[in-house]
Amino acid sequence: MRQKIVAGNWKMNNDLNESVALINQIKEALVEREDVKAIIAPTFIALDKASQLLSGTNIGLSAQNMCSEDSGAFTGAISANMLKSVGCEYVILGHSERRTIFGETDKLINAKMKKAIASNLTPIFCIGETLEERESGEMKNVIEKQVREGLDGISESDLSGTIVAYEPVWAIGTGKVATPDQAQEVHAFIRNLLKEMYSEELAENTTIQYGGSVKPENAAELIGQKDIDGALVGGACLKADSFVAIIKNA
Ligand code: PEP
Repeated sequence: MRQKIVAGNWKMNNDLNESVALINQIKEALVEREDVKAIIAPTFIALDKASQLLSGTNIGLSAQNMCSEDSGAFTGAISANMLKSVGCEYVILGHSERRTIFGETDKLINAKMKKAIASNLTPIFCIGETLEERESGEMKNVIEKQVREGLDGISESDLSGTIVAYEPVWAIGTGKVATPDQAQEVHAFIRNLLKEMYSEELAENTTIQYGGSVKPENAAELIGQKDIDGALVGGACLKADSFVAIIKNA
C-alpha cells in the first residue's frame, strides 16, 4: 500500500524564532500515525535547528529548493550536500513559484532531480497546469511534458521513492481548490503516465500528493480519492492546528 504523505511548504515565512515556535507546536499537537507521514519544509535558515528539534520524531524534513550544482560560483545557492549536512531528507523541486517567478525550466528541474537523487535526497517533484492551459484543453499535454522532461534520463530504480505533487497553479494560494473529481482525474492520468514510462509496479508505489488550497475542511474528501496519496500544503501549514488537522483528516 502507498504511504500517505502530508507535507507543509512554509515558503518565505517565519524567521528562526518563529520557526522554532511552530515546530514545537506541531510536535505537541501531532499524534504520529503509521499510515500518514508528516513532512515540513521550512526556509533554509531554519533547517539546521529544525533537524535538531525533529530528532526522535517521525516528522520528515524538507528543503524548498536546491541548486543543481555541487559547489562553486553560484551566489545565493544551496547544494544538495549542504542540505544533507543539516539533516534534510527531502527537497521540493519544480514548485510552480520556482517555475513562474524564478523562470525554472523543465530542463533545470530535471538536472536538480538527478542531483537530488544522486545525493540521497528524496524529491517532491511538483507539476501542474495554469488555468489558461486547463481552459484551452492543453492540461494533459502540459502535465505530460513536465513529467517526461522533468524525469528524462532517470531510471526506474533511481525514481523509486520520489514523491510527485500535482498542484494546479490556479489552486495554489487562491482558495480555489480543485474538486475531488478534477484532482482524481489528473492523478490517475499521472499514474498511468508513470506506468507507461516505467512500470505498473513503480506507478502503483508512487505517492502522488495533491496541492492547492488544501484545508482541514477539504482534506478528507480529496485524500480519500483512489489516486490521491496525501497533500502538499502551503497557507494552511503555517498554523500548527490546521496542519495537524489536515494530517488527522487524511
Ligand atoms: C503550495 O504552495 O504548494 C500550495 C499548495 O499552497 P496553498 O496550500 O496555499 O494553495
